[in-house]
Amino acid sequence: MPLQCILLNKIHKKDTVLGKSILVTGGAGFLGSHLCEKLLKEGNDVLCLDNFFTGSKSNILHLISNPRFEVIRHDVTHPLFFEVDQIYNLACPASPIHYQYNPVKTTKTSVMGAIHCLGLAKRVKARVLQASTSEIYGDPTVHPQPESYWGNVNTTGIRSCYDEGKRVAETLFFDYHRQNNVDIRVMRIFNTYGPRMHPQDGRVVSNFIVQALLGKDITIYGAGNQTRSFCYVDDLIEGMYRCMNRDNFIGPVNIGNPSEFTIRELAEKIVVLSNSSSKLVYKDLPQDDPKQRQPDITLAREKLDWTPQVSLEDGLYKTIAYFDTLLREKPEYAGE
Ligand code: NAD
Ligand code: UDP
Repeated sequence: MPLQCILLNKIHKKDTVLGKSILVTGGAGFLGSHLCEKLLKEGNDVLCLDNFFTGSKSNILHLISNPRFEVIRHDVTHPLFFEVDQIYNLACPASPIHYQYNPVKTTKTSVMGAIHCLGLAKRVKARVLQASTSEIYGDPTVHPQPESYWGNVNTTGIRSCYDEGKRVAETLFFDYHRQNNVDIRVMRIFNTYGPRMHPQDGRVVSNFIVQALLGKDITIYGAGNQTRSFCYVDDLIEGMYRCMNRDNFIGPVNIGNPSEFTIRELAEKIVVLSNSSSKLVYKDLPQDDPKQRQPDITLAREKLDWTPQVSLEDGLYKTIAYFDTLLREKPEYAGE
């Protein structure tokens, strides 16, 4: 080996002595950027991989000067070649408008992204965590949803590219585990919100807050009786970290806040908390929109000692403050 390589190897080894070397796919997204921040705080080296489809450099700008942080522009539908101890696979658009923009690509991202992360994990013997979703339950007929529920998913609808892609990814994770002994973790994330959601992300919390702050009409899809259970991002990241690092429990495990609200209740809360004069208006309900969703988090409590700490009101306050500052600093986000 040339002397220069030996020296570089030594420097690299010395640098990683304190923590692990961790790959985060989708690291420049909403959840990914918070996860990178947490992993760096814990003394790890973080490799943030992203194709910047829905993520952005501004989400990770504050981490760039950290010598333990690296960014790679790459698409998970192409193979991955790194030497790492852990892999968090978050790469996938999560908002319906974005995952429906190029649905074939969405399925490819989930399925091929999972295969490439699992192949890498197999080769380098890394532990790998899949960011799965409550969407694998589809429009659930069991309420609240425990991990043992197999779901009610339309295979041919407009949400299927996301739901089925994530279901296949779970299957691949468990097959690589059984067939190749890959060390996996699977968590099912329920609706999560907080700072660094994109203002034009399209998901309900960011849409309503931006509309409320700008005094625009709040767009409720359908009658607003459908329910969701909203988890603040800090709670979610703590659950994700525990899921990865707890031994002898591979999941799948639900991570979400079980406090359930109708979409109309959410809109009313946001109008009050942001002191807005916005009116509620009603639009068509998109196809296959789940009618109710609430995580059963018994397993997360038992296996990970995890329960969410942040109430919807406290989380919304912080998120409204974030968007308020953002819209002042970047008025271009206020446009139509
Ligand atoms: P996000 O859209 O902000 O982040 C996704 C990130 O993945 C973005 O940075 C995007 O650019 C990147 N990405 C997309 N396709 C890629 C590809 N082919 N190659 C490389 N990078 C790619 O969404 P998020 O809310 O941060 O979600 C992160 C993960 O968590 C997703 O896998 C999502 O399915 C899952 N999840 C999130 C929620 C939630 O409520 N936030 C709920 C359930 C599951
Ligand atoms: N929704 C809404 N107005 C919006 C955006 C979303 O009423 O401007 C509704 C949407 O139809 C769904 C719920 O809010 O019933 C949550 O939508 P989101 O896209 O945030 O997440 P998901 O449907 O994937 O849970």
